[in-house]
Amino acid sequence: KLDMRRVCEETDAVKEEVENRKGDLRAADVGVIISVWKELQKVQKEISDLETRKNVISAKVRALVVSVHIYAEYTSAREEGRAIREKLSQLYVQEGELEKQHYCRALKLPNRTHPSVVRHHLPFHNKKKKRGKPWEIRLAHVSGHRSYYLRGVGARLQFALQNYTMDLLQKRGFIPMVVPDMLKSVVFEGCGMQPNAHKSQVYSLDPSHFPDLNLAGTGEVGVAGYFMDHAVNLKDLPVRTVCSSTCYRAETETGREAWGLYRVHHFNKVEMFGVTSNETGEESSQLLDEFVTLQKEIFSSLKLHYRVLDMPTQELGPPAFRKYDIEAWMPGRGSFGEISSASNCTDYQSRRLNILYEGNDGNLKYAHTVNATACAVPRTVIAILETHQTKEGTVLVPEVLQHYLGLEVMEKPK
Ligand code: AMP
Repeated sequence: KLDMRRVCEETDAVKEEVENRKGDLRAADVGVIISVWKELQKVQKEISDLETRKNVISAKVRALVVSVHIYAEYTSAREEGRAIREKLSQLYVQEGELEKQHYCRALKLPNRTHPSVVRHHLPFHNKKKKRGKPWEIRLAHVSGHRSYYLRGVGARLQFALQNYTMDLLQKRGFIPMVVPDMLKSVVFEGCGMQPNAHKSQVYSLDPSHFPDLNLAGTGEVGVAGYFMDHAVNLKDLPVRTVCSSTCYRAETETGREAWGLYRVHHFNKVEMFGVTSNETGEESSQLLDEFVTLQKEIFSSLKLHYRVLDMPTQELGPPAFRKYDIEAWMPGRGSFGEISSASNCTDYQSRRLNILYEGNDGNLKYAHTVNATACAVPRTVIAILETHQTKEGTVLVPEVLQHYLGLEVMEKPK
């Protein structure tokens, strides 16, 4: 299902894409992927020829068995049949090994890159000053680093944010979904994530109790899995879904934002996920723009100071063709912090997950997938508390949340 024709024909472009992204692969791996792929094709061709020959011989043996006159021909046909079966069983083993070798590398190949994506990251110099001291939020000593409790109005703020964004998106025609947090590796791999890799960001459950189950780091995995091995009606496209889920992340890089809400092992996130056709070549780009417009609407309504970044190639990760991050100003940190991202994965995930639609010409084609954060709770909480804090230590509630929170001002917790 992977587009190996392109990898073989546009090898230099693929090598450049691999080098430009921060993935596990290097340009030299592309050569290995192609040679293993060619070897695999050779073995598969041999298998297919031998299977055809085997069928011819079986038919011949069946025909000859009724005729005793041509015994020599019968035994020679049976002999050839036996030899073919032996050869085939060797070839199937070889095919399995080559497939394993092929997929463990080829699944990590990145997507193409949208031509407008910048190739180099330009550092941003901001001259903004820190504002008041942020509220303290109690951290958990019961579950170690990188986890948190929210209590009282803090907990209500989480529910308010989730309900506000879920409601807003449903009013815009998004289908609400509840998705599983535990999924099989095949779905993660299809999304371009590597649950079984060394230092993977994906938590896997103890395989002796739960074989092949992993915890999703984003609702995107659950929704993408829902569409796996399905053909969507063209008239239903684009499909826009929104889900609220708990996200689990191993965050294996120690030292980065070790304390506080900013980088935690599990948090709640409202996520948009869309499936589009690819009849004009523009549908998924349009949906990405639509998702980013909605993100801007949400963060503007929360009265946050934010900026949208058109991410450079090395920040795209393998699945994205194009990606925008939104960063909000966080006065307590004295810097901008990423609060959301939006990616157009074109046919990268749908090829791996077999997400199809019937095109205008009646042929089944790979769909495109687009995902975007609507509200990642902890960092949005940081940005809201720190941006709307008053000199007195209270926090002014953005108008759109007042109805959900039942408050105009949040008092400092005792
Ligand atoms: P991603 O799916 O990695 O693009 O992340 C989407 C959003 O989730 C980010 O923009 C952050 O706001 C939030 N996020 C990602 N990782 C964490 C984490 N470990 N802790 C808290 N929030 C996170």
